[in-house]
Amino acid sequence: MPTTEEWARVHADLTRGLRLPCKLRFSSLWKVGAHDWNCNLGKCDIVVNPFADFRVPAHLILHEGAHHYSCPCLFLYGKGHCRHWARVLCDMYKETGIALPHATGFKEFARAAGIVHKIFDPSEALQMQAIADNPQLVEGADA
Ligand SMILES: [Zn+2]
Ligand SMILES: [Zn+2]
Ligand SMILES: [Zn+2]
Repeated sequence: MPTTEEWARVHADLTRGLRLPCKLRFSSLWKVGAHDWNCNLGKCDIVVNPFADFRVPAHLILHEGAHHYSCPCLFLYGKGHCRHWARVLCDMYKETGIALPHATGFKEFARAAGIVHKIFDPSEALQMQAIADNPQLVEGADA
C-alpha cells in the first residue's frame, strides 16, 4: 500500500496541476476515501484511509477531486457519481495525463471514459473502485 509520503506527493502534484483547493487528510473512518466539505469553514478535504491497499494513488485523488465540483444531482438525489462528476473526472485524467484505469465500478465514469464497467454492490462502490484499480485483487479479473 502507498506510504503517507506517496499519498502526500501525489495529492500535491495533482491538486497543484488542477488548481484544486482540497487539502489532504488521513482517516480510517472511510473505507477508502472521500471528498469532505467542511461547511463551517468553506474548506474541503480529500480524505484518504492510509490503510486502504490502493495501488494507484492518483486514481483515488482524481476520483475525490472530481467531487469538488458539485452538480444538481448532488442536491436532488444525494448521489455524487453522476454523468457530471464523470465528465469532470475524465477531463481531469486528460489534463493531468494520468492513464485511465482498465475498469471501474462507476457506470457513468465507465461510459464517459469508454472503459469497462464491472457490476458491484453499490454500497461497496468505493471499496470496489479500489478493487477496479487493483485488478490483482479480483480473482480472474483480466479486464
Ligand atoms: Zn475540494
Ligand atoms: Zn465518489
Ligand atoms: Zn450530476
